[in-house]
Amino acid sequence: MRAELFEKFHTRFGCPPEILSRAPGRIEFIGNHTDYNGGTVLGAAIDRSVWVALARRGDGRRRFASDGRDGDVTVSADRLEKLSGPPSWANYPLGVLAALPEFGLRAPAGFDYLAASDLPVGAGLSSSAAIELASALAFLAVTGQQPPRDTIVQIGRRAENDFVGVPCGILDQGVSGFGRKDHLVFIDCRGPRFKTVPLPPGAHFWIFNTHTRHALVDGLYAARHRECMAAAMAMGVEFLAEASPAALAAAAGRLSRLAGMRARHVIEEIARVGATVGAVRQGDLAAVGRLLTTSHRSSQTLFENSTPELDFLVDALVAAPNVHGARLTGGGFGGAVMALTSEIFGEAQACSVADAYLEKFGARPDRLHVQTGDGAELLRG
Ligand code: ADP
Ligand code: MG
Repeated sequence: MRAELFEKFHTRFGCPPEILSRAPGRIEFIGNHTDYNGGTVLGAAIDRSVWVALARRGDGRRRFASDGRDGDVTVSADRLEKLSGPPSWANYPLGVLAALPEFGLRAPAGFDYLAASDLPVGAGLSSSAAIELASALAFLAVTGQQPPRDTIVQIGRRAENDFVGVPCGILDQGVSGFGRKDHLVFIDCRGPRFKTVPLPPGAHFWIFNTHTRHALVDGLYAARHRECMAAAMAMGVEFLAEASPAALAAAAGRLSRLAGMRARHVIEEIARVGATVGAVRQGDLAAVGRLLTTSHRSSQTLFENSTPELDFLVDALVAAPNVHGARLTGGGFGGAVMALTSEIFGEAQACSVADAYLEKFGARPDRLHVQTGDGAELLRG
């Protein structure tokens, strides 16, 4: 991809790029809706990325192009406004440019910019964080600035939250920024603090994207957020992460049935994240898989953010040989399922799961075999 992008940039803009950067997509490994509850979450950077090539130009124009999109988007460096319609993909790099001064950093003036990617867009693998982080690294390198990695992660999140307007948590950018091949990224969302945990050999990941999305998903997210905050308040804590399972049992009489279910999911899910770190450190992938599947069951029955499609895939996967465990990955209410498998699980098995799904739901989910990969990096510059 690196050599290819270099060539494409040259052909498109008539000069070689000064900078090349890359940032990976990610999977949410375990920790469902724990982030805004002040909890912990585990993710993994994957071996699929967005690449950015960049070269300065002297006329104060910023020209954005992407492999996946037709045409260029050209804006003047003295105008930083949100775009709408087909050029709106450029809001991700524009959002990064808008965020830089908020962190005391300079944005480059005019440049030519080209993005390329082997990461599916909108599949829950966070191509948005990948394009943000690859862009941030390129803009920082071309202006000779080297802030700490935490800052780069926060810049990406600020771009997405404030400029693009998507209220994502820190998982996406944190994992893209701190990912490491053969490791998970552990995030304590209060802080936030990041560390990596080595994975035992032989962990393979399969993603099944259903392309379904609940029509009311934004409202459902907001409702879950409200329910969690109300449960925390009823338990006398600021965030559910501060409450133990024992505190939940003691508070049972003060919580509505629904609040109790949401709180139990979050509190137990945070405990599962901790247990997963322990099982990973012991090299016990079978135990890790059981925790993943238990996480899904909790989403299904307590947090109620699963769907019949996701449940069907999880059931089919956990019944199959060579699968350690499976769960919905991402916010839920549609989207994708992730399975942790041994290396023996292959295309034929994945296909038979997809065939069964096709028979029931009349559409075939996309299948993607991924492994862990390294976090965002500068490749030239
Ligand atoms: P996800 O992050 O799960 O892939 P999002 O909806 O959060 O889905 O982000 C996808 C958006 O990010 C795309 O619609 C596009 O605007 C932008 N994007 C991601 N990758 C690229 C790319 N290679 N080229 C142009 N835009 C991209
Ligand atoms: Mg995204």
